[in-house]
Parts: sequence; structure tokens; C-alpha cells
Amino acid sequence: MLKAGSNLLWTVFGQEEVTSQLAVGIDKGLTHHAYLFTGPSRTGKKLTAYNLARAINCESSQAPCGECVSCERITGGKHADVQLIDLVTRQDETGARTAIVVEEIEAIQRAAILPPFEGRSRVFIIDGAEFLTAGAANRLLKTLEEPPPGVVFVLLAASFEQVLPTVASRCRHFEFKLSSNDSLAAYLVQVAGAGIEEACLLARLSRGRTGWAIEALKDGQFREDYFKRRDNMLALFVAGYEERFSWAGSLAMRFGKNRPDVHDELLELRIIARDLLLAGFGQEDYITNQDKLESINRISSLYKPGELVDFIKAIQAAGEQLSSNVNPRLVLENAVLSLKAPATGIMVK
Ligand SMILES: [Zn+2]
Repeated sequence: MLKAGSNLLWTVFGQEEVTSQLAVGIDKGLTHHAYLFTGPSRTGKKLTAYNLARAINCESSQAPCGECVSCERITGGKHADVQLIDLVTRQDETGARTAIVVEEIEAIQRAAILPPFEGRSRVFIIDGAEFLTAGAANRLLKTLEEPPPGVVFVLLAASFEQVLPTVASRCRHFEFKLSSNDSLAAYLVQVAGAGIEEACLLARLSRGRTGWAIEALKDGQFREDYFKRRDNMLALFVAGYEERFSWAGSLAMRFGKNRPDVHDELLELRIIARDLLLAGFGQEDYITNQDKLESINRISSLYKPGELVDFIKAIQAAGEQLSSNVNPRLVLENAVLSLKAPATGIMVK
């Protein structure tokens, strides 16, 4: 019999407390009918949800083994009893998906009453429980109150507060944490094979999100895209209004396709503005984008601290307005308009 928590496949760096508790539960044959995983993006919530689905349906005594037919079909996204519901996978005709709607929950309910097709339990992973409409959340609540036997729901959300309390109270809650810079950098060097300088930079840029750091280390395209997006954001601080509007327009387009992604990008922009503010105060050690110190110092000298503080507040407000039903383009244009026009002729390197 598997010693609780000893299976390496459960391991998600930085979330050992969560994964060992889940492993103990599975080891004792105790599964809850609903779990709620909350925490920042890319901290391992979805990976852990899939590990849970694998562990529940695994054919080996070393669950989740990762190698049996069931584990492999779940990994490949082919298992008939494990279903992911999120904002990204199923887009409507316009691509604009901003909520998980009641029809999707009804479809789950219809599937949930059927016996498992190939595994032991049907597992429904709802990624973005904070994006359930009121109708969808209430419908889900009915199912959570009287769960069909052998069905497991795993709800994922960025924060506990954003989930309807009546829904949250029906779930076993696990909080996913951010890792410290030092522990994450050490992990990247010792386990993931990063160089020390690279590990320190990625740990800092990840802001404690292990999944982000690992993806940035392993996936060159991911890293390149991120650096390109970051350069574009840094360039906004020396760009004219036309370029700023064009940035706002393209971000508004992305908002229709991937909402969480745009919220992440606004957070990145806030961090850059904060870096510029810190540079103005000579606090280089606290700057997140350490590999951009030269540009940050140069751009920082163009702004008064109050102007950067106002911009940081404007980005934050834009993020909140995007969560209501406001035209995303207008919101984002207003945000970039709130930053004063810079002196011209300064290039970002
Ligand atoms: Zn298995």
C-alpha cells in the first residue's frame, strides 16, 4: 500500500501541504464530492486537480501511477469521465467568453447522473469558479447539495472571496500559496537544471508562481513571448498616444479570448510602473524586472512619483472595471490616457 504522500507524482513544488493532505485522503479511500482550490494563477491548481482525477481513477495501487491506461488517458485529455470546463477551451462564435453559463452547468448535471463510462468516478474540473454567472452558480449549488454518487467536482478560482459563499461552503477548501524567491530559485537550480543567475531572475519575475517559473525555464517560446510583451509594456511609458491606443486595442481583443490572461497583463503593467517608482526612489534591490534596470532607470527619470502612483491606481481601477460589464476597449484606453505624455525622443532598449 502506498505510504501517504510518498508518491512523487503528486508533488507540486511549493504546494506540498495541499498535495500531502490530498494523498492521505486518497490513500484512506476518502474522497470528498467537491474540492475548491484557490490561489494565484500558475501555482499548480489545475495540475493538482488532474492529479486528483488521476489518483481517483488510477488502476494501480500506487495511485496516481501516471502510467496505467486510465492515467495516460487523463493526461492526454481523452478520458471520458474527466471533463474540464473553463473560459478558454470552449469559445462561442465571437470568441468572447466572459462567464461560465448556466447551460454548461446543466450539461454537467446531465452527465453527472450517468455512471462513469470507463473509470471509477466522473471528475468535473471547473477552472474559473469566480466566472460562474449567478444562475450557473445556483444551479451548481443544487448539484453540490445533492451530489450524485461517485461524482467529484474540483473548482479552481483565483481567490476564495470571489467564489459564491454558498458554493464554497459545500467544498473542501485548499489554498495554494506563492513560493518565496529563494526557495523557488533553489528549486530551479537543483531540480530543474537552471543556472544560478537565470534561476534568480525567473524566480523574481514569476512572483512566486512556480508553474510560471518552470514554464519560462523550459519553454523558449513562452519566455520569448513574455519578454516581448514586457518590452511592449515598457515602451508604453515613452510612446505617444497612438501607440498606447494600439496597445489598448490589441489587449481589448485578447480580453474577448482570454480574460484571465488580460488581468495578468494588467498586473505586469502595474509591476513595471511600480519598478519605475522604486527606481525613482533609488530602491533598485526591490525592482522585479532586474534584467531591465538600465531602461527602468532611464524611463523613471521622465516621471514624477505622483504621476506613476496615479497610473498604478488607474490600472488597478481598469482591472476592476473589466470585471463588470464595461467596454474593455474604453476601459483600457482610459487607463493609458491617464499616463501623462512623455518627453519625446527616448528609446527603450
Ligand atoms: Zn495510474
